Amino acid sequence: MLAQFPDPAEALIKAGTIDLTKVMALIVQKYGGTSVGSVERIQAVAQRVYKTFKAGNSVVVVVSAMGKTTDGLVKLANEISTNPNRREMDMLLSTGEQVTIALLSMALQELGQPAISMTGAQVGIVTEAEHTRARILHIETDRLSRHINQGKVVVVAGFQGISSAGEMEITTLGRGGSDTSAVALAAALRANFCEIYTDVPGILTTDPRLVPEAQLMDEITCNEMLELASLGAKVLHPRAVEIARNYGVPLVVRSSWTDAPGTWVISPQPQGRSLINLEIARPVDHVEFDTDQAKVALLRVPDKPGVAARLFGEIARQQVDVDLIIQSIHEGNSNDIAFTVTTPILKRAEAVAAAIAPALRNQSHPKLEEAEVMVEQNIAKISIAGAGMIGRPGVAAKMFATLAAAKVNIQMISTSEVKVSCVVDATECDRAVAALCTAFEIEVRESLCTNSPLPNTPLVRGVALDINQARLAIRQVPDRPGMAARLFGLLAQNNISVDMIIQSQRCRVIDGIPRRDIAFTVCQVDGESTKEMLTQVAAELGWGEVVLDSAIAKVSIVGAGMIGQPGVAAKMFEALAQHQINIQMIATSEIKISCVVSQEQGVQALQAIHAAFDLAGSEKFVVPA
Ligand code: ASP
Ligand code: MG
Repeated sequence: MLAQFPDPAEALIKAGTIDLTKVMALIVQKYGGTSVGSVERIQAVAQRVYKTFKAGNSVVVVVSAMGKTTDGLVKLANEISTNPNRREMDMLLSTGEQVTIALLSMALQELGQPAISMTGAQVGIVTEAEHTRARILHIETDRLSRHINQGKVVVVAGFQGISSAGEMEITTLGRGGSDTSAVALAAALRANFCEIYTDVPGILTTDPRLVPEAQLMDEITCNEMLELASLGAKVLHPRAVEIARNYGVPLVVRSSWTDAPGTWVISPQPQGRSLINLEIARPVDHVEFDTDQAKVALLRVPDKPGVAARLFGEIARQQVDVDLIIQSIHEGNSNDIAFTVTTPILKRAEAVAAAIAPALRNQSHPKLEEAEVMVEQNIAKISIAGAGMIGRPGVAAKMFATLAAAKVNIQMISTSEVKVSCVVDATECDRAVAALCTAFEIEVRESLCTNSPLPNTPLVRGVALDINQARLAIRQVPDRPGMAARLFGLLAQNNISVDMIIQSQRCRVIDGIPRRDIAFTVCQVDGESTKEMLTQVAAELGWGEVVLDSAIAKVSIVGAGMIGQPGVAAKMFEALAQHQINIQMIATSEIKISCVVSQEQGVQALQAIHAAFDLAGSEKFVVPA
């Protein structure tokens, strides 16, 4: 592993500021709130920092506020105002970290270790002027380097910065932001690596409170980590993961209480990206397309456990690798399942689907409802990707609006945490890509298909369960450009974050207009109000009924090793089928497959899938609630 890291000496020469004769490695260590939650813990942290320094390293430490200090400060503010001024909020919240840096520096000095504390402003962590959610623009390293060269440990306040020269306003980066501070500092200082110390032993394959057999991962790629955001975000903030990926900062998540090695978060080789505008403000950093795809759809398959398992099991036995898989919900008791494959294997995929279709006849209406296979060759898959879209409701809407403005009709939609993929007509691919590149300010040369399988990575790294979502479906949405844009634009305007979006295959002509259903998931708390809001506009926009189901669970598998490997989806569906768990929706990206199931079966689904991919182990991990 160490061989992949930039050579410490070389990195430091390039940085040009640090006296090499004194340095083994430059390490940034970050300690979270629990790790510095009391005087005793601060002293224990000081010991660890001291040991690292004595081993011959330079150390920059980033700390959070002690324990639940920040929550306490938020509460105080809310007792005075229901809508506190954001500038004053930053003034208030930034004090938490200032307490910790002073105390930790004192604790280090007590050990005889020269140390100095610095606020974000003193370091020169320059951010946008956006109070309470500022992004880092750049970090001045001179003052830091000077203290490092004098043999001091520098203790920096996480989560805070200062807006640029003229203003000098204290800003904060948003809750959980000290991870971001630490990785940004590591990038700016070209540190050899960044250690995130926390109260869990690292990243686990799933939530051990639900699956006692969950195991610690040795390593995970940044992209996998981002797709597992719902599992890992509490341990490592997605913005920090994105900086690590962009600058190739080796990152490790470890426990503050033990010497166990923790989980390495692996980045691709750094590409010499500029340290100006360090946190890119744009939500999308790639537009990808693939024209070498064909679509196979099975219409009207029965809505019962085991159907997807049977279909994709047979497909896997034929060694056919499927890319996108989409299953959405429909009126009545049948589903459509659509998937894409690369053009050369289309014939084989089609043959499998055709062979299996008669066996999938809907038992309750054997005559009326017969599964039917549909093949479409001239399609392209277009995706936008980027960690910046997490929690930003408008990004998918902007993609759909852009495609609508370019008069591109969307045939299928599938989303994951950091990606939105649309299937469109192949003849419209160039136009769509160009429009998206303009809209998201991406250079066209970046619009490549960047995903290739990683050698020696497990098919599935981790499994996540999300039970806090509700599903909405809109029936009979007219199938023409602009409809998805209208829908998701409305949601964005109302600040409703959409998680999974699925627009499936079945097209029905009603009143002379072809129509499709669109389904998506939102946070459960937004379910009712979203339904109400959409119901109000449904008639005017020519939509059918709006249906809400709050009793759902989303279970996902993530693994960079699944790219190009047949059979992964089949195995997941098979695990669900064996437990008689019905799959209501399916959405995929290159490294993620998500299924919506009923809420009461969520935990069972998680356990079944975790076991099916051999992720279980015997070591027990306890994580704090
Ligand atoms: N203290 C801040 C918070 O609680 C930042 C952090 O801990 O990462 O959100
Ligand atoms: Mg934190």
